[in-house]
Amino acid sequence: MKFHVLTLFPEMIAQGLGQGILGKAAGKQLFTLNVVNIRDYTQERHGKVDDYPYGGGAGMLMQAQPVYDAYKAVAGGRKIRTIYVTPQGEPFTQKKARELSEEEELLFLCGHYEGIDERVLEEIVTDSVSIGDYVLTGGELPAMVMIDAIARLLPGVLGNDASAEEESFHCDLLEYPQYSRPEIWHGKQVPEVLLAGDHRKTAAWRLEQSISRTARRRPDLYEKYCKKQDIIKRLFSEKRNNIHMMEALASGRGEILYAADTGTSGEWDILVYDGESGICMMTAADETSGKMLAERIPADARWIVISQPFMKEILEKREFSDSGRTFPEDRKGKFRETALCGQMLYTPRETLSVRYKEVHRLSEKAFSYICLHYPEKEGGGEDYIRERIRAGALYGAFEEERLIGFAGVHRGGSLGMLYVEESRRGRGIGESLEAYVVNQMLGKGRTPYLYVDEKDIAMYRLQEKLGFYKARKNFLWLKKVLANGMTLC
Ligand code: SAM
Repeated sequence: MKFHVLTLFPEMIAQGLGQGILGKAAGKQLFTLNVVNIRDYTQERHGKVDDYPYGGGAGMLMQAQPVYDAYKAVAGGRKIRTIYVTPQGEPFTQKKARELSEEEELLFLCGHYEGIDERVLEEIVTDSVSIGDYVLTGGELPAMVMIDAIARLLPGVLGNDASAEEESFHCDLLEYPQYSRPEIWHGKQVPEVLLAGDHRKTAAWRLEQSISRTARRRPDLYEKYCKKQDIIKRLFSEKRNNIHMMEALASGRGEILYAADTGTSGEWDILVYDGESGICMMTAADETSGKMLAERIPADARWIVISQPFMKEILEKREFSDSGRTFPEDRKGKFRETALCGQMLYTPRETLSVRYKEVHRLSEKAFSYICLHYPEKEGGGEDYIRERIRAGALYGAFEEERLIGFAGVHRGGSLGMLYVEESRRGRGIGESLEAYVVNQMLGKGRTPYLYVDEKDIAMYRLQEKLGFYKARKNFLWLKKVLANGMTLC
């Protein structure tokens, strides 16, 4: 990941982000920081970058020209996601940090004085983001806050991928209390359960603490958490068919956009959206409900997963527009069927044995190999592959240090992307890769599940051998196709 920062105070950024964990991570090239002094781009002889606002009013305004030229010097002809830090922006959240961490390059624009001439903002800014409802003197601290929150989500930065997953705001809960040595301090004893070494009991205690702490300190989050839990319980009664929605909610990626008991024979209408992967999941009691849910599909949804055939017609008929999160291109499009799949899940909590021993997490070195063997039609192309490697979600099988196959976890949470070289098939390598990924998911407390193309008998067999079983319904995947025939990855 590359961060660019346009600022009038470059030393402030370089010093602020050059220390501690982030300083070390930058030293290891886990991300790069390019700080640009806007003043270097002014055409004014005395280095001035600000002037009085038209129409009067207090203070000075940063002028368009130096900001624009500094931006051009970084972006050239490329379109970089450009974040203007401003108290007028959308609130910065952990979710926003996660979304931004998936970009390859980000540019932060720091304002000063009374802000920046609106005309240049209109031309270059893709996102306006605020760190809170208060006004600071400049955008440097907000930019540093955001870069810190984003950079620590990048693979390898924390040195322990689990730690970013368990923290406050994950799944709408605050983190549980933590203790370190000594066991007794100021007469206060570390809770017994943490000393006993029973991982299950520790996890249960922590969850209970997280829940009660959230209820006390953040009733707004607690309410959201309880609502989610109610829906997860409801979905549990048909776990086989609902595992994709349950996992999206339980992992914190999914949001409930609609959920209501229709009152008829216990049927529910549910719409869950995973904004990070653009996947919309729904179940509707009947066609009327289906039409109502279709109206609520977010503009930036790229995929829809449904199990009720009547939804296909409703969805394919409609035109959906994308509000254009990033660039004002024409994002109108229609959803089209791309695949009919069986959904399979693995419910035991026991890990699987991995017979082929040379299976490891993949690094960027594997990029071209995966591009070669993972056809574009199945995924979102090269950007998607790069993003999955960065997220630490792809694993490879090696033979004398040469990569011979891979498997991984999709951004939406399902297992997939399995490939083994033809000459190495029939030796249990695919099975080991799948078993390895299952174990990774179990280690994170997830329920492994995946989609298998309806006609892929060999794949069904492999999954059944590992202990997966199939949902009763088949699932239809629809993908948004834009007016110009392009799809969004
Ligand atoms: N006049 C502006 C307004 O009312 O929106 C405030 C300008 S502020 C004094 C100067 C700069 O500090 C802004 O352009 C922005 O870059 C940054 N800034 C101030 N408060 C911020 C916040 N809460 N979140 C993000 N950026 C902020």
